[in-house]
Amino acid sequence: MALTRALDMERIRSEFPILGRQVHGHRLVYLDSAATSQKPRSVIDAVSRYYEDINSNVHRGVHYLADQATEAYENARARVARFIGADDPRGIVYTRNTTEAINLFARTWGVATLKPGDEIVTTEIEHHSNLVPWQMLAALTGATLRVAPVRPDATLDLDALRGLISPRTRLVAMSHCSNVTGAIHPIEEIGRLAHAVGALLFVDAAQSAPHIPLDVKALDVDAIAFSSHKMLGPTGIGILWAKPEILEPLPPFMGGGSMIREVWTDHATWADIPARFEAGTPNIADAIAFVEALDYLDGIGMNAIREHETTLAGEALARLGEIPGLRIYGPPTGAPRSAVVSFNLFIDPADPDSLVHPHDVGTVLDAAGIAVRAGHHCCNPLMRKLDIPATVRASFYLYNDIDDLDTLVTALRNCREMFDR
Ligand code: PMP
Repeated sequence: MALTRALDMERIRSEFPILGRQVHGHRLVYLDSAATSQKPRSVIDAVSRYYEDINSNVHRGVHYLADQATEAYENARARVARFIGADDPRGIVYTRNTTEAINLFARTWGVATLKPGDEIVTTEIEHHSNLVPWQMLAALTGATLRVAPVRPDATLDLDALRGLISPRTRLVAMSHCSNVTGAIHPIEEIGRLAHAVGALLFVDAAQSAPHIPLDVKALDVDAIAFSSHKMLGPTGIGILWAKPEILEPLPPFMGGGSMIREVWTDHATWADIPARFEAGTPNIADAIAFVEALDYLDGIGMNAIREHETTLAGEALARLGEIPGLRIYGPPTGAPRSAVVSFNLFIDPADPDSLVHPHDVGTVLDAAGIAVRAGHHCCNPLMRKLDIPATVRASFYLYNDIDDLDTLVTALRNCREMFDR
């Protein structure tokens, strides 16, 4: 049954081959897209087509296939730029994933820029990928890391964040959207505050780029990172985008082939951006196949996807909230959020010790063919603040519909009864 008219659910579901399979004798209900999304046929085919038709190394050969592969690889870069509203493809650097993109920026911009006394501001709700690299950078440069806290209700303390931004701040690094609570953060406003003190805004867009129309110019961010695999594309391709004028003066990340202009035995000079940051043979096939994912998303329309997911999230919050003892972590009703819902099941809502361990809930759901994530979601500080070991996380995407939610709710009710006995 279709929940909204925003999307043609029957067609969409038929285009994702994996959704047709059975798990433990049940229809697969895939609610783990925040970990990685499923892939439409067009993306899967594009990977094989690359190897069948134009497989060759890029930027190296003088032969026909090398030209074709190079052209497709660079066209893909321009396509990614267009997807996020960036004018200049030179701002797009291919990485393996969001994690590598953040580390790349920390090790190039951060090492070149920061000195003792400078401050990096981040938050307690960040994925480890957007926290640990800044800890490492602070240790390397003598800069100080300031961390805005999460409130007991699992939402970011925005007043505290605003208060941490000062003339000492050189960078604010924060997520657009939480991978645990689904909260969407006001990055435009935080960007204005950062810019007012001469700092940059770095946005971890791993959980927003797949779900929310993104325009780096309209948002006025300085750099963002995201992963192809969470937005219908292949694994092994991530994107760092930064304003070209920020990348231009930076030193390389890794040394090797492709990133140099000239090499002597004792020194080397660097290639222009973005090649300077792409040492070695890149992930050509997956960069090219990523185009199919972006075409797929734009073909449906990011606004329509957002509308569908907002309706589904609203329905999920209402239906899950009716299950006795089920506690949802995250933004209050009406606050901006994605279709990521984290929760725990307590047999006695008043007794924290009656928590059904999220791994047990995940195992029971798996037996019913439902794929969710149970764990700390790479957010140890957040779990510590909430005083819980983990949560169960159901994350919805464009191929999920109300029947997936129905199956989840029924299985959770059964699970509660099973552990209540
Ligand atoms: N940031 C956030 C908010 C994420 O959800 C994730 C993936 N769970 C990452 C960063 C890291 O992404 P990747 O594993 O693709 O590097």
